[in-house]
Amino acid sequence: MKSSIVMLIFALAASAAVFTFNLGTVEGEFYILEIQSKGAVLASVEKTDGAFPETLEVIEAFFVIPENCIGCGICINECPVDAITMTDDNIALIDPEACINCGMCASACPTSTIEVVDSADCQLFGIDAEGNEELIQEELEVE
Ligand code: SF4
Ligand code: SF4
Repeated sequence: MKSSIVMLIFALAASAAVFTFNLGTVEGEFYILEIQSKGAVLASVEKTDGAFPETLEVIEAFFVIPENCIGCGICINECPVDAITMTDDNIALIDPEACINCGMCASACPTSTIEVVDSADCQLFGIDAEGNEELIQEELEVE
């Protein structure tokens, strides 16, 4: 019975789109770039051969806003495809590649802290060698 429910959810779930963000010219001594939304890291890339790539992709999946998560684990039990795990800091984390965008976790979350990625809310951050984080750009350009 459960497997048929999961198959129905798969059929009804929207396929996730992908946002391709232009990173532009990055000034500063960073070794990692991150696309973040509301404190959640959605994608990251390390500098290779002295340069960053020109673009970075973010899957339009559900994500957890870290500062609002109380670590109750309800979303983990709701997810039909086991796309959610708990971090060492007791914050739920959704694997965007596994998420089928059914929305069941968001409906069940008692703190309403699970949302779908909105490209208008994404920002570019840089991480330096000491782990310090700096906002590089708001309102990123989508290809
Ligand atoms: S929307 Fe939530 S419950 Fe549904 S697949 Fe994605 S992480 Fe799992
Ligand atoms: S249901 Fe909401 S508050 Fe509970 S662990 Fe999941 S994201 Fe965090």
